[in-house]
Amino acid sequence: MEDLNRTEMNKTVPGNDALLDAPEHVLSTMERDGSRRWLRPRLSMGAWWQRRRIVAYLLMVVFVLVPHLRIGGKPVILLDIAGREFTILGRTFLPTDTLLLALLMLTVFVSIVLVTAIAGRAWCGWACPQTVYMEFLFRPIDRLFEGTVGKGGKAKRSVSFPLQIARFAVYVLLCGFLAHTFLAYFVRTDQLKEWVTSSPIEHPVAFVVMAATLGLMLFDFMFFREQLCLIACPYGRFQSVMLDEQSLIVAYDHVRGEPRKRGKHTSGDGAGDCVDCNQCVVVCPTGIDIRNGLQMECVNCTQCIDACDVVMERVGSPKGLIRYSSQDSIAGKAMKMFRARTIVYPLILLLLMSGLVFAISTKSGFDARIIRPGGAPFTMYPDGTASNEFRIRLVNRTSEPQKYGLVSESDDVTIEVLDEDKMSLEPGQSVLVPVHVTFKGSMTRGSGRKVVPATISDKSDNVREVEFSLLGPR
Ligand code: SF4
Ligand code: SF4
Repeated sequence: MEDLNRTEMNKTVPGNDALLDAPEHVLSTMERDGSRRWLRPRLSMGAWWQRRRIVAYLLMVVFVLVPHLRIGGKPVILLDIAGREFTILGRTFLPTDTLLLALLMLTVFVSIVLVTAIAGRAWCGWACPQTVYMEFLFRPIDRLFEGTVGKGGKAKRSVSFPLQIARFAVYVLLCGFLAHTFLAYFVRTDQLKEWVTSSPIEHPVAFVVMAATLGLMLFDFMFFREQLCLIACPYGRFQSVMLDEQSLIVAYDHVRGEPRKRGKHTSGDGAGDCVDCNQCVVVCPTGIDIRNGLQMECVNCTQCIDACDVVMERVGSPKGLIRYSSQDSIAGKAMKMFRARTIVYPLILLLLMSGLVFAISTKSGFDARIIRPGGAPFTMYPDGTASNEFRIRLVNRTSEPQKYGLVSESDDVTIEVLDEDKMSLEPGQSVLVPVHVTFKGSMTRGSGRKVVPATISDKSDNVREVEFSLLGPR
């Protein structure tokens, strides 16, 4: 009927005859006319919700505490983009740690793929900040202001204007706190404290960044909401390649539930266990019907499990019509613990983690890389000596200031540091040190080249052998 009306409506608009009717909701958050479909999911306070609530509140505490925790005086996590250093579990990585950072990112990526292959979208339903804060902080605030019919039911009243202002103020306060906490992962907490306690005029850029973060959070939690999972998040879209038929998902047992039949079932009526009560749909925070099968919009929040279990209990059927299961298991096939994904991914992960541990354990206290600048390859002097110019890229990786010494390993080669001040580096500092190397011209006779070793050391007994590739007369 609705389809007919829409078709008729299209025909009344000149030039619209060619328009096709949308056969179904393209998005669960959009009405057929393109307007926003606001979701007000009913709350089902079942066993899974209780477990998720404990995890969610623990994660909220962890999120707030982590920026303030230290390991060996260093932050547990600090992604200092402005200072170009990344501290993870008290260990600092610099942009020059290309191999380490690549290994770290690959390890995180493969871990996500492995967890998804085994446990489906456990991250989305249990640990993603979007779900955690939306379902366990901001929706409860909405329910507080709107009231609910029964426990967690439909909104009882429309919110009056003064209450809307009050709710907005609560959102601003909470998002402000979350925005500051979020930024504490990117800026040192002492620096953040200084910004917060001083006038914005003294740090306009930081103020704009903070205001923008707050604005984005308000936009997300007040307006965009579940659409972030449905439209913007790439993880949900990748799940079709990361999941297989054996992966654990929140699934409707269509074998047991179909054919669904509304109302009381009688023995021998051929109906499945689903009583078509729609409770699994009204609790869904992404507005979908789990009975339509595995969908990208499902964040595995388990609310439909809880809602359906209540219904099953009420009608005297076993719980678990919707449950954690796999597509194969629902179809009656055996679960396989060992399959290509669960063997290959852990092996790759093991290799990556071994590489990471090895790279970290063999990392020296500083980096030194010899760079030959452009210009004349060498200079000859009347006494038969020649010279080359170099730059040394020095990076102090320790947590203390260091002074470096550079010694030639050859008696025929003199290495002169042209700016001695640059041999003293603060923790994490990176500099280019100009160096002048003088040697006997006869050393390069033949090939016009000679590689000579040198040693660089710091006061913490970190030592590195480097090589100067000298160019001179043939
Ligand atoms: S279908 Fe169920 S598990 Fe998936 S998002 Fe909706 S309520 Fe949550
Ligand atoms: S809550 Fe259970 S019984 Fe009700 S419609 Fe959903 S699957 Fe069917």
